[in-house]
Amino acid sequence: MLMNETHVPPATADASAPQANSAFDEAPGIDLHMHSTASDGALSPAALMKLCHERGLSRVSLTDHDTLDGVAEAQDAAATLGLTLLPGLELSSQWQGLNIHVVGLLPEGAQGSLVAGLESQARARIARGEEIARRMEKLGLDDALAKARAQAGSERPLGRPDFARAMVADGLVKDMGTAFKKYLGSGKRGDVKAGWPYLSEVVEWINDAGGVAVLAHPLRYGLTRRKRGLLLDAFTAAGGEAAELVSGFQNADVTRDLARQLDERGLYGSLGSDFHFPGGPVAPGSMSAVPRTALRPIWQHPRLAAIFAEAA
Ligand code: AMP
Ligand code: MN
Ligand code: MN
Ligand code: MN
Repeated sequence: MLMNETHVPPATADASAPQANSAFDEAPGIDLHMHSTASDGALSPAALMKLCHERGLSRVSLTDHDTLDGVAEAQDAAATLGLTLLPGLELSSQWQGLNIHVVGLLPEGAQGSLVAGLESQARARIARGEEIARRMEKLGLDDALAKARAQAGSERPLGRPDFARAMVADGLVKDMGTAFKKYLGSGKRGDVKAGWPYLSEVVEWINDAGGVAVLAHPLRYGLTRRKRGLLLDAFTAAGGEAAELVSGFQNADVTRDLARQLDERGLYGSLGSDFHFPGGPVAPGSMSAVPRTALRPIWQHPRLAAIFAEAA
């Protein structure tokens, strides 16, 4: 079963995981993967920062899909709240016919080839929205583009969740999960990915901007361990330096195994909730504990250490 981006149901955090002697013990207060209304999140960047502060976070990144548009507002709010915000984004790419997400942590924002890269991502997302709309119309969603636009509630480029919500609103499916399972998830009609750049290109853009490329949620692509290894190899060969060791809630044994795969390739480990909206499977800062590991945490990366030290 290929349920690539299916949201993992909430599980209880693994309290029995050994914690001693791990550099990840500093992790509380960190969440490096969250969304706002600049992409498919429900909270404005400022409201998200407020929620992060209320939840006791100190070091966060806003990582909207294919855009830095929410970062300035988040930065202002974070400064007022005394929160350290690392500018970031989550770039859509393709590898071996799969839609792969790469988080860019960008201490200097958009620089170099990332500037043109962001423009081409925006164009690709607009063209893709039109193509998804054509396909959804054939499946019975009349005026699909206008309905998805109404769900988005702003002029930002559309994503699959906007179409999923429109299908729910029209009574074509009972909920978002079903919309993805039947029409929009990996391998389904609405999974349009031909316009996305290759994985190696988006990694280059991030490096060119002086950022750190982080392979997002490596466990959420429906891959076998072996194929996941090949993805990590391709990502590392392209210049990627980190991957999300923990994304939301995941089993501790799975995390230990993933840590081994990252360690073998010298990758840093990152952490994030992939928060999108209140009342969903995760909240800002909510994710499984990190079992003891020799892996280096992302905040020790030479290009990020200074910004994280400020917050301490
Ligand atoms: P897109 O950026 O347009 O490719 O849309 C992908 C987004 O859809 C992901 O970032 C998630 O926020 C959302 N998503 C993916 N799978 C599901 C699902 N099964 N249920 C609800 N939302 C999903
Ligand atoms: Mn999303
Ligand atoms: Mn993602
Ligand atoms: Mn995400």
